[in-house]
Amino acid sequence: MSIFRHPNFNILRDTTKHQGLRNRLVNVLIEKGITDNGVLNAIKKIPRHLFMDSSFEDFAYQDKAFPIAADQTISQPYTVAFQSQLLEIKPTDKILEIGTGSGYQTAVLLELGAKVFTIERQQELFRKTKLFFPKLGYKPKKVIFGDGYVGLEEEAPFDGIIVTAGAPFVPKPLLSQLKIGGRLVIPVGDDVQIMTLFIRKGAKEFEKHEFGDFRFVPMLKKKN
Ligand code: SAH
Repeated sequence: MSIFRHPNFNILRDTTKHQGLRNRLVNVLIEKGITDNGVLNAIKKIPRHLFMDSSFEDFAYQDKAFPIAADQTISQPYTVAFQSQLLEIKPTDKILEIGTGSGYQTAVLLELGAKVFTIERQQELFRKTKLFFPKLGYKPKKVIFGDGYVGLEEEAPFDGIIVTAGAPFVPKPLLSQLKIGGRLVIPVGDDVQIMTLFIRKGAKEFEKHEFGDFRFVPMLKKKN
């Protein structure tokens, strides 16, 4: 007997088993100190396994990063939750994301009610993920193939900016594209990054807070 499986049917399947694994993941994140209910509810809802290669599906709800296309990674759920929590998103906030990657972090921002602009520098990931969002019903305002170091001047200012790759330094345009009161969440460093939050207090005034070590793939200069 041959079994015909429609690829789309397979790809977009979200089962009660997946839901159960997500509930367990949420409990792990609570144990690790995540407290923002909006963020926890987003993680409870979003089918992370669909953002990954199907060969990793069984591991999708472990609190780990996994490879995606173009030698990049889908961030660890704890990291996604931690960064999202630091943004303190309110519905209708305008958020810029640097490093679209798999789109999973984008989905969390959208579930929080944000208007999301997201930039990816790898052509392959940009194309794949841009086409993937509508399949799950996610509607970022713009998915852009570009360089996150320059931000997105034409849509500035933003309530929040999140960088999901390790930044060797803090790009000036990202600070200048924040609203007063806006927040930039950026992992800064070379081999290991310190999660850093900047809050804009005035035209040239920023408050800086540091939150310990994380590991990201590097934020790169050249477009591929
Ligand atoms: N948020 C993503 C994380 C992907 S890893 C997820 O959870 O899936 C970091 C991403 O940043 C990669 O996709 C990488 O290609 C992208 N990136 C690296 N340097 C960049 C730059 N200068 N501008 C925009 N994106 C960049």
